[in-house]
Amino acid sequence: MSRFFIEKYSSLVPYTPGEQPKDMKYIKLNTNESPFPPSEKAINAASEAINILNLYSDPESRMLTEKVAEYYGLDYENVLMTNGSDEILYFAFTAFCDKNNPAVFPDITYGFYPVYSEFLNIPFREIPLKEDFTIDINDYFNAKGTIFIANPNAPTGETLSVADIRKIIEANPDNVVVIDEAYIDFGGESCVPLVKEYDNLLVTQTFSKSRSLAGARLGMGMASKGLIQDLNTVKYSVNPYNVNRMTSAAGYGAMCDDEYTKKNCRYIEECREYTSAKLKELGFEMTNSKANFIFAKHNGADGKKIYLKLKEKGILIRHFDKERICQYNRITVGTKEQMDALINALTGILEELK
Ligand code: PMP
Repeated sequence: MSRFFIEKYSSLVPYTPGEQPKDMKYIKLNTNESPFPPSEKAINAASEAINILNLYSDPESRMLTEKVAEYYGLDYENVLMTNGSDEILYFAFTAFCDKNNPAVFPDITYGFYPVYSEFLNIPFREIPLKEDFTIDINDYFNAKGTIFIANPNAPTGETLSVADIRKIIEANPDNVVVIDEAYIDFGGESCVPLVKEYDNLLVTQTFSKSRSLAGARLGMGMASKGLIQDLNTVKYSVNPYNVNRMTSAAGYGAMCDDEYTKKNCRYIEECREYTSAKLKELGFEMTNSKANFIFAKHNGADGKKIYLKLKEKGILIRHFDKERICQYNRITVGTKEQMDALINALTGILEELK
């Protein structure tokens, strides 16, 4: 830290992104990226956009916003495109949380929620998940704060039904409920259709997972017109050109190739079930993940040791030191070949650790 860093940030603990090794020698199963390249339509559209990078991007990403609205049966004013879904979450913490509206979220969830809270000086309350890592919706009735729920949750992959989310929204009419659907396309039930019904619901999604555009940084918020207006006020006070031309074009291309997205999602779902069955045979216990990752622990081997041994063998997965989940690892579902390599490596490691 330099002597110039202002005091209020001096004790900040920032978010730690998953490792992004420079060499490609690892099988990378640690940041829930897609193993598939972007759609050809996304690549072509982004390539064309490069030719006009001398011009600022459209601050509204109009073509893309219209396309997204049409796809989800919403109006243009219900949608806001952002620089990854991390940015829409940041806007939401900024717009809807303060000391009178603390943030409320599960104790085990996306690690950025407490980081944004600390950064923005927002008080927050963490509600413990049940023993089996599922959410008890009763804990969120009359929560007296702005609720953030990842559905599917990270890193557990556990989901809530739309019926349960509806109950949470209705039990908190005077608070915003944010449903983070980063992983919704791998078997969960989206609550975007509820956007038209409730003025206090914000649904966030990303192009990073199911649409193979993690490196482009594209996300979005879908909500009532009032909430989107508030989020736009924040956006235009921070970074009006938040989505660059290439990304906006790539996103449009990806939206025009829904068949490709759906095909890849079904592949990942099948591969998740295939891998889960193999892991079970090896003695792993898993949560019921409906995401593009598996959350697993082994009763005969330490979670961190498994992570380190796999890294030695060239396979990266994600381990969290947090006490309640330190025996678990989060494993991104890749191609079947990658999963077979993982199972092979784990078979050897479990022998070694016996
Ligand atoms: N929400 C959750 C639950 C996530 O795991 C992630 C991925 N790190 C994000 C949001 C943000 O993803 P992105 O900014 O790439 O859209």
